[in-house]
Amino acid sequence: MPSSDDRALLSRFLQDAIRRELRAGVSHWENAAWNKAAGTFLEGTAAGAPRVARVARATRAEPGAEPEREPEAVAPAARKTKPTAFNPPPKAAGRARDWKKQLAAVGAEAAECRKCPLCETRNSVVFETGTASVPLVFVGEAPGRDEDLQGLPFVGRAGQLLTKIIEAIGIDREDVYICNILKCRPPNNRDPLPEEVEQCLPYLERQLEILNPRVICALGRIAAQVLLQTKTPIGKLRGRVFLYNGRKLVPTYHPAALLRNPDLKRTVWEDVQLVRRILDDPESVPPDAPPGGAPGGAPPPRRVDDLNLGI
Ligand code: SF4
Repeated sequence: MPSSDDRALLSRFLQDAIRRELRAGVSHWENAAWNKAAGTFLEGTAAGAPRVARVARATRAEPGAEPEREPEAVAPAARKTKPTAFNPPPKAAGRARDWKKQLAAVGAEAAECRKCPLCETRNSVVFETGTASVPLVFVGEAPGRDEDLQGLPFVGRAGQLLTKIIEAIGIDREDVYICNILKCRPPNNRDPLPEEVEQCLPYLERQLEILNPRVICALGRIAAQVLLQTKTPIGKLRGRVFLYNGRKLVPTYHPAALLRNPDLKRTVWEDVQLVRRILDDPESVPPDAPPGGAPGGAPPPRRVDDLNLGI
């Protein structure tokens, strides 16, 4: 007959074993769920391989056989986004009443802009993309080569990856609004100069004022540092919530960084889930103090010398 001490020991042993098994099960489930959702980020973008259209094989008709019928037309899918665990995103409600007209006016002004020397080398002024029907704005740094040629932001490999990232949180890319700090391409994709940022930033400020989004996601070091007026590295800004003129702002890595270093995939996935959480319920995530600014307040006045643009 085992003693009461033996029984207590055995009971503790069994409880520990059950806890270990449960923890292993949960961790396995978490990893599987994460891989399923975030794993789509890099699919098919690494080589940028073009899609090959499927060509129907011609078949020889047997004598006397029924003539082959035309295949029935298949209606194109209404939405391209893959089904996800997220509910439909909220609709934009805080925009200016005549926001389309106002944005068009700012865009027309930028299209003629010659305020900085980038106007001499640009092919296009890259102002915006997206219908802004969801109150979420992504802000990048500046147009690259593809963007300069096509006149649209985020259309190269990094742009394709951004599309996947947005779709991973259950939103169609065309439903959000995407723009950059600079509207013209810096030669050889160099970092923006402080004086270029100083001249161009007012366009972005007006875009954000007109759209009044619920969340701004700053993509990469330069976008985050310029908007938050800080020199803090992106690794210390990402995954946190700041206030930019009273609107919530979440910095994360630029998709181009993710293409160079796929290990950042999980980090970006966490950041965009945070973006989605704020989008669904803004009160659920309180903002951090803006670096260099009053807690929860507006950023301090802009000083061009404060910008750490790595030059
Ligand atoms: S980068 Fe901005 S400020 Fe410079 S020319 Fe283009 S639109 Fe004007």
